[in-house]
Amino acid sequence: MTETDLGNVPDPQPIVKTEATVLDKLVEIVGEERVSDSELERVVYSGDPAVLPQYHYRWKAKYLADYVVRVENVNEIEEVLKIARQHKIPVVPRGGASSCMSSSSPTRGGISLDIKPMNKILEINKKSMFVRVEPGVTFDRLENELEKHGLTFGIYPSSAKSAVIGGWIACGGRGGIGTPYYGSLRDHTLSLSVIGGDGTKNTIENDEIDLFLHSYGILGIIFEITLRVHEKPKGYKTFSYGFRELEGLCNAMRATAELEKKPIYLKIADDELLKYSNPLEDGKYVLTVTYIDTPSDIPSEDLNVIAGDNSGVFLGEEFSEKEWELRYDAEFNPKEHTETLMFQELWVPTEKVHEMLAAYESYRRSHKIPALWFGMLGTPDAMRLELMAMIDAAQYLKFISSKGILHKMMKKAIKSGGVPYTIGLQNSIYMARAYPDRLVEMKEAKAKWDPEGIMNPDRVTTCLTSFRRIDLLFALAAAFRRLSRYVGK
Ligand SMILES: Cc1cc2nc3c(=O)[nH]c(=O)nc-3n(C[C@H](O)[C@H](O)[C@H](O)COP(=O)(O)OP(=O)(O)OC[C@H]3O[C@@H](n4cnc5c(N)ncnc54)[C@H](O)[C@@H]3O)c2cc1C
Repeated sequence: MTETDLGNVPDPQPIVKTEATVLDKLVEIVGEERVSDSELERVVYSGDPAVLPQYHYRWKAKYLADYVVRVENVNEIEEVLKIARQHKIPVVPRGGASSCMSSSSPTRGGISLDIKPMNKILEINKKSMFVRVEPGVTFDRLENELEKHGLTFGIYPSSAKSAVIGGWIACGGRGGIGTPYYGSLRDHTLSLSVIGGDGTKNTIENDEIDLFLHSYGILGIIFEITLRVHEKPKGYKTFSYGFRELEGLCNAMRATAELEKKPIYLKIADDELLKYSNPLEDGKYVLTVTYIDTPSDIPSEDLNVIAGDNSGVFLGEEFSEKEWELRYDAEFNPKEHTETLMFQELWVPTEKVHEMLAAYESYRRSHKIPALWFGMLGTPDAMRLELMAMIDAAQYLKFISSKGILHKMMKKAIKSGGVPYTIGLQNSIYMARAYPDRLVEMKEAKAKWDPEGIMNPDRVTTCLTSFRRIDLLFALAAAFRRLSRYVGK
């Protein structure tokens, strides 16, 4: 290079500060340690236990979050929401990710907002019997803290080992362990502090609470919760009965649910499910029922009569106690034995439980589907039925037929006065049929609380596909399956 050349070098330009990226702005709010755009974390934060085989997602790159942000307080949430509105990117609140209906899985990238670090127990008030908590508190911690004061929250989902309180509220909490006795989560929720997608903060009470229960994070984020609590009972007593016939099991379940003395926990299951937790030596079905352990709470004589009338056999203390111990695990243990555990959750009147399970068992036989099921009483007249299928993702046709059967089961449940239990992403196609009034109410609430539509899109009020399209897809799949059998022969 000559001197002349050097002389021709233009004067250095002043450095133009490029606009901070979304990542920079998020780091500014919560610090580097609580933001990530690494692929591993984005993948981990983009699914839930109902994750489906990879081919299901092949065309859906946007099912991956762009950023994972762990928030510790409402000011941070407020700032993150500002960035999201500014850049028009979605925010997906995430608790324990146990909803299993892709409730907290992104559909358009954006921010996966982990609320678990917001886990303070703010106040325990024994005089007025309430507790004030942040949404990321786990049920285990809550119970341990309350126990020190002789108190219990009393109700919790059987996913309590991974779920957090904010997540259960956003899913509705109609049925869980304790709800047949103490009432639903709605009965326990005294107030919620929320921040809408538009950034406004409010404390809501009374009827407005219903909007945020079952809201699946589509309106805003719940950042503080006041809950009713109870005196802690001294202990619990469990009774398990074995049945050979589904009808006997379902009749005994209904009769037990209708007794004046209400159980803390009532579960029914088939031997296919029990195989993975508390195998049955004899019989095919089990009814397990748990009461507060005082003579005035246990309807011993009625239980004996009900079991006798329906050819049920008491399975002994050891089996019964194990059923209670396994209350958090039994439902999910099969997951350890299969690549994909496919789920559908129905909320069904108790008088329709037999009809529904008989239909599922008949599909299991006729379609040779590796199906199993489980039911937990939520209120004295409604049960959360969990229908599952253990699927090998490589068997594409079995995967599609199992999905199709779960779809048929949902249509049958809706016809019989049932509804989908968890909505999330997967069940939003049923909203118009199962919850028409709720759909209108939620659309209005969405326009009010999240007018720019950044909060957890594509569920509850809108969905990525339609009921008709899914219906047609499964009808075609069933026809193809029949045809392939015929051609095979
Ligand atoms: C084995 C098993 C057993 C289960 N048992 C029960 C049961 O007994 N009863 C029952 O009702 N359900 C049950 N479920 C379903 C599910 O576990 C519960 O609904 C659970 O409470 C969800 O909580 P989570 O913290 O995992 O929420 P996530 O799955 O993380 O989130 C659920 C929804 O809430 C939103 N959300 C999370 N936190 C907030 C917040 N702070 N503000 C606003 N929105 C938020 C998310 O965006 C998402 O839409 C079960 C699931 C499994 C896998």
